[in-house]
Amino acid sequence: MDYGLTEEQKSIISTAREIAQKHIKPVRQRYDAEEIFPWDIVKVLGEAGLFGVYIPEEYGGKGMGVFELVLVVEELSRVDAGIALCLAGTALGAYPILLGGSDEQKKKWLPPLARGEKLAAFALTEAEAGSDATAIQTTAQRDGDEYVLNGTKCFITNGGDAEIYSVMAVTEKRKGARGISAFVVEKGTPGFEFGKKENKMGIRASSTRELIFQDCRVPRVNLLSREGMGLILALKTFDATRPGVAAQALGIAAGALDEAMAFTTTTTVDGETLASHQAVQHILADLATEVEAARALLYATSRMIDKGAKRTTKESAMSKLYASDVAMKVTSTVVRLFGHRGCLTDYPVEKMMRDAKITQIYEGTNQIQRNEIALALIKEAASAATT
Ligand SMILES: Cc1cc2nc3c(=O)[nH]c(=O)nc-3n(C[C@H](O)[C@H](O)[C@H](O)COP(=O)(O)OP(=O)(O)OC[C@H]3O[C@@H](n4cnc5c(N)ncnc54)[C@H](O)[C@@H]3O)c2cc1C
Repeated sequence: MDYGLTEEQKSIISTAREIAQKHIKPVRQRYDAEEIFPWDIVKVLGEAGLFGVYIPEEYGGKGMGVFELVLVVEELSRVDAGIALCLAGTALGAYPILLGGSDEQKKKWLPPLARGEKLAAFALTEAEAGSDATAIQTTAQRDGDEYVLNGTKCFITNGGDAEIYSVMAVTEKRKGARGISAFVVEKGTPGFEFGKKENKMGIRASSTRELIFQDCRVPRVNLLSREGMGLILALKTFDATRPGVAAQALGIAAGALDEAMAFTTTTTVDGETLASHQAVQHILADLATEVEAARALLYATSRMIDKGAKRTTKESAMSKLYASDVAMKVTSTVVRLFGHRGCLTDYPVEKMMRDAKITQIYEGTNQIQRNEIALALIKEAASAATT
């Protein structure tokens, strides 16, 4: 489908595609099996300027937006979603700074992220606070010109490998959701350590670790936005970054479809290619239609965000929900089309199915996306009724 891309956007896609084919494809199976963090790929992506596509030029980026970030993540994830996460996870950690940081804070932390010299991470989830973010227990107690952080975050993407962490902590418990604040905590700050690294079913080249804060003193100048605005900043971040998860899911689905087309048009059963059977053709037609529908929804949402739409919670949630469900459906169908080969690690499709699953879970499970979409629909209906 023609999405009217500019020459610059086409060039970003071709750069990401070339890196994916030349550098990621040859290592993807080994990095997944051995859980290797892709530092060599980080370097290549950084040199190509892809870490900074969504970061304003004044802070060292290319000055583009969510749409271009989505294009990059889709292309990289088409080959390996776990490796792509070094970049997408950094965007998730960078957005609170981008959306809530002062000019000084942006000047300090964004340029090395734009160059890919440092990675970022986003830390909200805790053992007893996943879907319900208001239940977080990590505290940040004000002490003069510092805040003292105590608590443990879990399942943090890029945890341990990132240098810059956007961390949500409770500054005033009695205020509930309005008592949560966002801080930047840099790796190496005394009292900030890393705990267990998770052994995951998919995206295994991406590190997922616990963050442990024990009397960790963070200067007051590391507070993003204002005290009490942390949860709002996290939700605004999700509006901008859930399209990134959708792009990951779309890339996985498109990659699985690429594999299905190559396999069914070259593999013969009883002297005929699989793709010559109408039953198989219909499967391919359905999958391709759903992949394109996911792409159209995602691209429209990303462009809406970049045009400055006030709230895109519903559209961002729809993009993430739809693309991740499509990714799960496409990958499991393609595994089946591959027959016995589908479950062998010699072929990439079983890994794509394992990677797809996570896109239904993180940055809010798909049940939570449905809650958000329904809430927005009900609000829209109520406001239509009063006008
Ligand atoms: C690989 C990986 C990487 C991650 N990276 C990060 C990261 O970088 N930063 C970060 O902060 N977090 C991260 N997470 C955490 C992730 O965002 C949470 O796992 C997710 O939000 C779900 O929370 P939970 O796991 O605690 O599930 P729970 O909240 O315990 O949910 C369990 C089940 O109950 C359902 N459920 C819960 N509440 C409702 C409701 N109100 N309505 C309907 N159903 C509901 C859920 O959909 C789910 O099926 C990561 C997780 C994983 C697995």
